[in-house]
Amino acid sequence: MNEIQHWIDNKVVASTSGRTAPVYNPALGEQSGTVALASVDEVDAAVAAAKAAAPGWRSTSLSKRAEILFRMRELVDANRKEIASLLTAEHGKVLSDAMGEVARGLENIEFACGVPHLLKGGFSEQAATGVDVYSIRQPLGVVAGITPFNFPAMVPMWMFANALACGNTFVLKPSEKDPSVTMFVAELLAQAGLPAGCLNVVQGDKVAVDRLLEHDDIAAVSFVGSTPIAKYIYETGTRNGKRVQALGGAKNHMLVLADADLDMAADAAIGAAYGSAGERCMAISVVLAADAIADDLVAKIADRIPEVKVGNGMEPDSEMGPLITAESKDRVTGYIDGAPAEGATIVVDGRTDEHGDGFFVNPTLLDNVTPGMKCYDDEIFGPVLSVTRVNGYEDGVAMINASPFANGTAIFTRDGGAAREFQFDIEVGMVGINVPIPVPVSYYSFGGWKASLFGDTHMYGPEGINFYTRGKVVTSRWPDPATSTVDLGFPETR
Ligand code: NAD
Repeated sequence: MNEIQHWIDNKVVASTSGRTAPVYNPALGEQSGTVALASVDEVDAAVAAAKAAAPGWRSTSLSKRAEILFRMRELVDANRKEIASLLTAEHGKVLSDAMGEVARGLENIEFACGVPHLLKGGFSEQAATGVDVYSIRQPLGVVAGITPFNFPAMVPMWMFANALACGNTFVLKPSEKDPSVTMFVAELLAQAGLPAGCLNVVQGDKVAVDRLLEHDDIAAVSFVGSTPIAKYIYETGTRNGKRVQALGGAKNHMLVLADADLDMAADAAIGAAYGSAGERCMAISVVLAADAIADDLVAKIADRIPEVKVGNGMEPDSEMGPLITAESKDRVTGYIDGAPAEGATIVVDGRTDEHGDGFFVNPTLLDNVTPGMKCYDDEIFGPVLSVTRVNGYEDGVAMINASPFANGTAIFTRDGGAAREFQFDIEVGMVGINVPIPVPVSYYSFGGWKASLFGDTHMYGPEGINFYTRGKVVTSRWPDPATSTVDLGFPETR
């Protein structure tokens, strides 16, 4: 059985905590390994390694850092399939989807390769006579990342690529549910020439997270996960004086207006609701269908569901894999069980045991779902798509804006004016116009609003660079000794 340990100072370090958690192959429902759960001392060892490496890494020239990032890019690129298969084995998402995840993560490393340009400051010559003023951005020191199970390769790359590029050293606490990918990627970074201690991985649970949140040598924490934990991380981390960005859960709506291309909307809904078995923070979980087309749209989605090939993600023709754990399966089927009593209609029922012991739920479609029902209000995080009927644009926008979550949303319409209005009116961080999963490219930044993000800074892209650096402004004068005088007045510029 695979035993997954820590990665400290560019080597595997066996845990001595005596605590482990099981890791599963979710397609088979079998335990495939164990992951170490770090003790406080083990977290301290990782932070100490990162602290020791920080001065050297910070002093490494921008071009050298970029060179190492370019090599990381090459190595991740060359190992896409290996990373994707490790990911599929523990997460369950199908290989093609895992390859997509790696590709989107890689884009963040590519963005970070531009760090010499990204860290350019400003310069004002002659701000006062003989005085120049310039701004620089400097790394924070040791920063930590705490990541969720659903993107075990991409989300760590959202964080460490920019953090390292900016000259920080990093301690990563991956999800204990699918930790193997990060160990492999850490090894690739070492091969790329990243010095020992710059990136450390501690496996663990709340014990490790709490230690990172209180450790005096951690300057900042990036978190991605569910809303209650994101809120906890933000409140605890900031109370301990750390800079925190904590991305939380989601409940993403897709508004389909009466003029939309219904086949395109149905195709998009299938991909966005059932891709990765709905375990994406940008998954569409509610379709708001304009009354005039709702029956047609429900029929078109229902017609497409039997075509979705559900199976072991390792099989090349599988399009949708299992959920991450048996508990997830029970939780998701619980929402389907409870839906009729709340007044919803089960149009396609995905509760099944046809896949042996694997943690599968097949694509499920609920209709006549309304706010106040658990299947509408909660983040289900499974392959369950709800349809809620709305009068039209105003009704749909009001419903989206009333949601406590505000990660992503999409509108499907042929009306450019309505789309433009939607972009203006909607209180959500990431918006798609006829695009169901509007994950920003790596040179923009990713983040929701409201209960989907605690903190001020979105992740990766330009905001990522800001998050991992702090600004300094230098006012500089090289006086002519011949004109030097003593002046006790407040410095003036004119
Ligand atoms: P989670 O919140 O359970 O776990 C995330 C991380 O927090 C893990 O590393 C876990 O070990 C740690 N953790 C869990 N419980 C903790 C506790 N009590 N104290 C301290 N640390 C704790 O999330 P998950 O189930 O791994 O991931 C799915 C969730 O993440 C969904 O809600 C999804 O929407 C969200 N998500 C959000 C985004 C986003 O960008 N907004 C992206 C991906 C996932």
